[in-house]
Amino acid sequence: MSTPVKYSSQREAILRFLKTRKDHPTADVVFQHIREDIPNISLATVYRNLNQLAAAGTILRLTTNGKTDHFDACVEPHYHFCCRCCNGVKDIDMEPVTELVDRATKATSFKIEETTVLFSGICDKCLEEGIE
Ligand SMILES: [Zn+2]
Ligand SMILES: [Zn+2]
Repeated sequence: MSTPVKYSSQREAILRFLKTRKDHPTADVVFQHIREDIPNISLATVYRNLNQLAAAGTILRLTTNGKTDHFDACVEPHYHFCCRCCNGVKDIDMEPVTELVDRATKATSFKIEETTVLFSGICDKCLEEGIE
């Protein structure tokens, strides 16, 4: 499943940047910041590196509303919340429900390896601003 990642300096810079962020930036946001350090980098290169890091399991890729990819340097199991107003992705600070995997395993003959849980709704900031 996980292929060893050959670290280019570009990929290292992308990973380093991602580790400073807790807000699950999109490839576009990563690109805007990385460009300050590596002016000749392209969005396609940023995307390719992010996808390679995700494929290797070094980072997480979260797809929200079926079109936007968000990236997360934290690969520990944790749940996410996506705001339908601002499209922001936030971590939910709770223990993963391991029972979910147990129950799904019991209900099937599959070898279940992971779950992706994405909560959605309206975030605290948008609620405060009265956006709905
Ligand atoms: Zn919001
Ligand atoms: Zn996260």
